[in-house]
Amino acid sequence: MEFGKLSKTELKTLQAQLAKKFDACKAMGLKLNMARGKPSAEQLDLSLDMLDQITSRSNVVLPDGTDCRNYGLADGLPEMRGMLGKMMGLPAENVIVGGNSSLNMMFDAISCCMTHGLPGGKPWCLEEHRKFLCPSPGYDRHFGVTEYFGFELITVPMLPTGPDMDVVEKLVFSDPDIKGIWCVPKYSNPTGITYSDETVRRFAALKPAAPDFRIFWDNAYCVHDLTDTPDHLLNLWDECQKAGNPDLPVFFASTSKITFPGAGVAAMGASDNNLQVFRKHYKYQTIGPDKLNQLRHLLFLKKVGGIPAQMCRQRAIIAPKFEAVEQIFEQELAGKGVAAWTKPNGGYFISVDVTPGCAKRTVALCKEAGVTLTGAGATFPYHKDPQDSNIRVAPTYPPLEEVKQAAKLFCLCAQMAVCEKLLE
Ligand code: PLP
Repeated sequence: MEFGKLSKTELKTLQAQLAKKFDACKAMGLKLNMARGKPSAEQLDLSLDMLDQITSRSNVVLPDGTDCRNYGLADGLPEMRGMLGKMMGLPAENVIVGGNSSLNMMFDAISCCMTHGLPGGKPWCLEEHRKFLCPSPGYDRHFGVTEYFGFELITVPMLPTGPDMDVVEKLVFSDPDIKGIWCVPKYSNPTGITYSDETVRRFAALKPAAPDFRIFWDNAYCVHDLTDTPDHLLNLWDECQKAGNPDLPVFFASTSKITFPGAGVAAMGASDNNLQVFRKHYKYQTIGPDKLNQLRHLLFLKKVGGIPAQMCRQRAIIAPKFEAVEQIFEQELAGKGVAAWTKPNGGYFISVDVTPGCAKRTVALCKEAGVTLTGAGATFPYHKDPQDSNIRVAPTYPPLEEVKQAAKLFCLCAQMAVCEKLLE
């Protein structure tokens, strides 16, 4: 029965029942966390053998004489550029392999544009009213980077096909203060959707008013399939070449959720024109990346049968957690008009839209009963969800049994919050 169709008396009875269950949960003293998209210890164990890959002198000197222990190869090991280039869909020559974090590379790229600018534009710090498009719900740390650098963050609605391209085209075409857009094109954080072919083509064909506008294409979840029917993302690099817009995108990815977040390998890719700017920046920043870690990754990933094989092992651990959450949501929430949730084919998140005005309260109730969730609003610029509706659920980190407990509690709290709202 839909909550919205219940009488006040029925709602009050329901509220009392829910409160009783809530008190019982609270008494259990739970301490669960579904806040951040982190791999579980079991997932991290999958890559433990990586640490044993470099065992002797013969390992660290490559056949071409490159000593991975020493300075040099600012763009990374050629083989690693090839492996990550293939994963991201770009030629190895257009890939720079950096340190352990793609977010770090995104921050650096924005920082470089701020201080030195891109061909055709001045340094972004000299633009009085710089703006950045933020498809929302989206990744809070993306928004944080551009907020930190003083951009006005402009919300663009997310549709099942990706960012609303009518809005993107209109804004980008007319406003030269808009310098870029954040995109997570496959298994988006948090909605889990993959951009449609039409969306990718429209991105490739953009005609921005600012000559130095860039698409920040963060393909963090490009190989993170969870089902036998994975989503397919059209290759933006190819589409931009075809559209005569090769300088438009800058690509990012990492092995954070393939091997170890914090000790993985990150990469960025772009056209020669763009890379010229970024390489100059890196030249002053470092004498070369950690090639031993790159080598370790190459040896390990080859040994386990490549990135797709490693991702199958990851999937075996993660998929049951997503299935459990979806099953519990279906059991507890379906038909009640309390919430709608995504059923992604991959990635790290389930995105829930509770009845408007109820997200903060749901998260607060969960916290009170011992389940930490991503803060309500975090998926929007300035942490302000205009509807107070979206909640990001990250089921990968806790063990399966805890995921189930947390999902049940989430459903209880969402129902309590909606009950309260309807009784206001
Ligand atoms: N990009 C997205 C969309 C993410 O969700 C995350 C982590 O959750 C990152 C980047 C962080 O990547 P890295 O560990 O390579 O810095």
